[in-house]
Amino acid sequence: MAIIDECRTDCKPRVGVYGLTSCYGCQLKLATVQKIMEIADAVQIESFYMMSSNSKIPADVDIAFVEGSVSTEKDLNELIEIRKHSRVLVALGACAVHGGVQSWAEGEMDIDKLHSTVYGDAEINMKPLQATPIEQHVEVDYSLPGCPPEEDELMYFISAFLFGTYPEPKDYPVCAECRLAGNPCILIERDAPCLGPVITAGCKARCPSFNVPCVGCRGPVPYETAWFDSLAKTFRMKGMDEEFIRDRMRVFGAHNPNLEPMLKRIFGEEKE
Ligand code: SF4
Ligand code: SF4
Ligand code: SF4
Repeated sequence: MAIIDECRTDCKPRVGVYGLTSCYGCQLKLATVQKIMEIADAVQIESFYMMSSNSKIPADVDIAFVEGSVSTEKDLNELIEIRKHSRVLVALGACAVHGGVQSWAEGEMDIDKLHSTVYGDAEINMKPLQATPIEQHVEVDYSLPGCPPEEDELMYFISAFLFGTYPEPKDYPVCAECRLAGNPCILIERDAPCLGPVITAGCKARCPSFNVPCVGCRGPVPYETAWFDSLAKTFRMKGMDEEFIRDRMRVFGAHNPNLEPMLKRIFGEEKE
């Protein structure tokens, strides 16, 4: 989709940054990148409550960055309006792209039961929905993964739009950056449940670099190339059971449609 083609050399692209249900960490990250003043000068910010109290939802913009999952009816209505008023829409961060950790109840607990467990009989002025990624409701042009996204990727996306071109997704896994960093493999050497082999790179293998196994906040590598089956088999060989693997892969991947069929294949094999 064209972005700045008609947005002309004599005007600045109009930008909106919006938050649905989220921790606001992605917006905070964007508001605190080192070059935020240069960005603010290069674009026309129409809506971004962290930076301007003159913001409104929605605003007519060339580029909308949308953070957060759709977790209430208000989120859904706002998202639909934001989409109508935006030429290009970017899903910003793990909550928007994959539903985030708040999607844990997907397929596990009915939303009404979840709501009454948390709020009891209290009257809450909102209609809750099971948390979902925004692309389940509107067309998403680009996805910027991470919890929150990395500063260099935020800059890459914004620069690409300013140059009138388009950001390319990364299609290689965290393992590639982990090996480049010279880390020992904690999956092989310590039997740690590291999801690095199936998760999109870009964080420079932050967690394994601190001896912490990747939990998958950036979501699976695109183009259906993520070998969840292979990784789950490796986990199984290392003594992890089906429930543990499911829980691990659901932390940021509760909406992965391939997860249950994959577990069935692998643990079905075992039972045969
Ligand atoms: S992706 Fe992470 S940092 Fe961004 S809003 Fe969701 S929980 Fe917060
Ligand atoms: S520690 Fe994790 S990310 Fe690093 S190489 Fe091993 S499996 Fe891949
Ligand atoms: S190593 Fe995994 S969990 Fe850690 S920041 Fe990178 S993608 Fe996220």
